[in-house]
Amino acid sequence: MLAPSTCPANADMVAHMMQVSATAGAAAVRPGRGAPRSPADRPSNNAATHRTLQRHQAIVVGAGSAGLAAAVALQSRGFETVVLEKGDGVGMSWRSRYAELRLNSWRPMSKLQGRGMPRSCGRYPSRDDVVAYLEWFARCHEVSVHFATQLLGVHHDGDLWRLETSTRSMLCRYLVIATGWDTVPDMPSWPGAGGYRKELMHSSQFANASAYTGRAVLVVGAGNSGFDIASHLVRAGARVTMAMRTPPNIAARDLKGIPGQPLLVYLGDRLPEKLANTIFRIAQRVTFGDLSRYGIPRAPGGVYANHRLQGRSPAVDDGFVSAIKRGEARVVGPVERFDGDGVVLADGARLHPDSVICATGYRRGLESLVGHLGVLGDDGVPIHHSGAPDHPYAARLYFCGMWAPFSGQIRLGPIHARRIARAAAIDRRMRYRVFSGV
Ligand SMILES: Cc1cc2nc3c(=O)[nH]c(=O)nc-3n(C[C@H](O)[C@H](O)[C@H](O)COP(=O)(O)OP(=O)(O)OC[C@H]3O[C@@H](n4cnc5c(N)ncnc54)[C@H](O)[C@@H]3O)c2cc1C
Repeated sequence: MLAPSTCPANADMVAHMMQVSATAGAAAVRPGRGAPRSPADRPSNNAATHRTLQRHQAIVVGAGSAGLAAAVALQSRGFETVVLEKGDGVGMSWRSRYAELRLNSWRPMSKLQGRGMPRSCGRYPSRDDVVAYLEWFARCHEVSVHFATQLLGVHHDGDLWRLETSTRSMLCRYLVIATGWDTVPDMPSWPGAGGYRKELMHSSQFANASAYTGRAVLVVGAGNSGFDIASHLVRAGARVTMAMRTPPNIAARDLKGIPGQPLLVYLGDRLPEKLANTIFRIAQRVTFGDLSRYGIPRAPGGVYANHRLQGRSPAVDDGFVSAIKRGEARVVGPVERFDGDGVVLADGARLHPDSVICATGYRRGLESLVGHLGVLGDDGVPIHHSGAPDHPYAARLYFCGMWAPFSGQIRLGPIHARRIARAAAIDRRMRYRVFSGV
């Protein structure tokens, strides 16, 4: 039932995708692998109820890596589980990302339950490899997905959850929200942006670097996405300027041929934060030298402190720093406003790029779904973001993958998923005992 011996080759992957989509098109929910354990958890047999109000033991919202991991973990504990996905395929956010994107996280650290991506995908698999892997994973584990079904709101209904979706209402006892950490593009509202006459877009709309050959591009934001997009643009022959508000900590993707990410994770896990920050800072200095003369001063705060306090990861460099040093790209101060076809910086300088790409981050976008349940912090991040335990005001509601660890979000999904499935199984056992008087 689970993984075949290797990840399918490309041709097979296409076949996998078509089969999964075909299942989706039928919009029929195959029963999950587990049988309901108590009468209260059994899906209703009433045909009329089925038409209007579908009932499932567990519902997972979002068919990205975290949602698929959660569904598989629940299924393996015997929960009848369906996944709701607003798009028409699994891994929708990866499908929509730019063509040149590769994982920043090391392949062996970017796997879901069971087998990871095959070696042939390389050290940092491509966007299409990730999509094919998610397709393969969903199919191998027989995950049942309702595509084109968007969750609109969640409400209490007795001790169940009632879900209003774009297609129907649903009930479930266990609800997992896995709608993604980077769901809603965060676009600053600069004065004059509405009347800007050149191309202005969020990085989520950036499709491929090759379209920018020979053009002057201003990349706004010196985070992970900003660095990655900028390095692809430089390679494609664009004239790149990066507008930076906060200098980032910078991690090399590879350190003398060795993946930098495991080292980053190891230091953070094993050492006191202060010491880990110092070692990272020394490593950055040895790797890149003093970048202040190129407009990138030392980051305010150590890499691990920034991550703990603000959830901010270091920018991963894959050649952009070298491009700056070679004079093929430059870094300027933050954008203050737009003016006709010009961009005015905080220091008063005026730029006239052909395009502005805002790598200014994302928000979770959970407020409209679960904000009224009191489960979100001021920043819109779930208070209990690590899967389980569930929230005191919202029993059996879990969040999967809603954090950005150094080890990458793909790796985080199964960790949260296992915690969720274990918590749900404990809850079910307790209910069964009460119900049966054991
Ligand atoms: C440019 C970029 C590069 C990245 N690189 C890496 C990397 O190298 N390694 C890594 O580990 N992570 C990386 N990430 C993080 C990335 O978020 C994860 O890889 C992964 O996509 C997270 O999976 P997820 O399931 O949590 O969220 P998503 O992949 O975003 O999946 C969420 C799913 O939920 C669906 N959905 C959303 N709202 C609803 C709704 N209301 N109803 C129904 N369905 C809904 C979406 O359509 C989507 O399919 C990167 C992110 C970006 C933006």
